[in-house]
Amino acid sequence: MNVNYLIVGQGIAGSVLAFELLEQGKKVLVIDGNASNTSSKVAAGLYNPIVFKRIVKSWMVDDVLPVANEMYASMEQKFWQKFHHKRAIIKLFASQDEREFWFSKAAQKELSHYLSPQVEEDFLSGKIKNEFGAAAVLQSGNCDVRKLLQSMQQFLQQESSYREEHFTSNDLSFHAEGISWKEVRAEKIIFCEGYQATQNPYFNWLPFVLTKGEVLTIHIPDFDTESVLNKGVFFLPLGNQVYKVGATYEWKDLTEQITEQGKQQLLQKIQQVLKVPFSIVAHESGIRPTVKDRRPMIGLHPEHAQLGMFNGMGTKAILLAPYYAKQFAQFLAGKAELHPEVDIARFNLKN
Ligand SMILES: Cc1cc2nc3c(=O)[nH]c(=O)nc-3n(C[C@H](O)[C@H](O)[C@H](O)COP(=O)(O)OP(=O)(O)OC[C@H]3O[C@@H](n4cnc5c(N)ncnc54)[C@H](O)[C@@H]3O)c2cc1C
Repeated sequence: MNVNYLIVGQGIAGSVLAFELLEQGKKVLVIDGNASNTSSKVAAGLYNPIVFKRIVKSWMVDDVLPVANEMYASMEQKFWQKFHHKRAIIKLFASQDEREFWFSKAAQKELSHYLSPQVEEDFLSGKIKNEFGAAAVLQSGNCDVRKLLQSMQQFLQQESSYREEHFTSNDLSFHAEGISWKEVRAEKIIFCEGYQATQNPYFNWLPFVLTKGEVLTIHIPDFDTESVLNKGVFFLPLGNQVYKVGATYEWKDLTEQITEQGKQQLLQKIQQVLKVPFSIVAHESGIRPTVKDRRPMIGLHPEHAQLGMFNGMGTKAILLAPYYAKQFAQFLAGKAELHPEVDIARFNLKN
């Protein structure tokens, strides 16, 4: 079998990159080990144009958000599936100062696009602790990532472009025109392995600083909203009064297992928001491919140009991956440069 690109990993990164390469008429083969608790599978899939701590725009948001909206719309159209939901994120203020800070920011021209200037005083009143009021982030939303991955996998299968297999470098060999893996020949192999890139013998020099995250799924009877709530944790509505709540950030324990400590941390935060009872439906964890300088990891190996990497989406995969998949596909076709801030060449000691 001959393809242009062999892609290892079908998380959100591998999915959007494969989608873009196919759109450009390239032949791809995607292989994935089909693990159950990958970062993409447990992620809430939220995108927020605002960084709450300082109430500033998320990095590159004016550029990346329109591309994300466009790519998810075109995937939905192609797959006949709905997985992208535009919805407000309601920020519940923790203090009067925080509330005043928000409205001073919302009055700024460059942020008015993303911050509602209206107070939501009565939002779910009686059911949540909301003494300082709330306001909405605009142009935010979420992707049901599991659904996106399933739809993409079906699409790839129809195109004979998917195999459930675990990649090991023992099966890889290099030749003048590219690489061979088993009986597959490709111009390049692109690794989209998420946090498992740290085990990749060709790229283990890259400074990933991984972060484990845990989320709870809870049922809150008689609690209905289409918006995401945020106060230290997010509550993402999944329908039928079920909400995904998270997430934790853990740098030391990088095992894939859920922990009692993670659960207790989330329960404490939930209790700071809810006045009503709830029950736990599920508890999941995943490891985010986060990077020392908090920027994606994209580019070609400094010595073997047949090897590429598309990774490091950190906490912002939903926002960033489509824009950089387009940029990387253009780069691979020799039609664009990579943004120096995302190019793995920034970590190449020989530079
Ligand atoms: C709890 C939690 C909540 C999150 N919430 C959000 C959020 O709301 N919004 C957001 O934008 N981001 C969020 N993230 C971050 C986001 O999930 C990640 O940035 C993103 O999923 C990374 O995608 P990826 O495709 O690079 O990696 P992964 O999702 O890890 O996918 C890698 C794929 O490669 C496969 N693979 C790896 N090695 C091999 C191999 N050798 N052979 C075959 N297959 C292989 C794996 O099985 C997997 O399917 C969250 C993460 C966590 C953990």
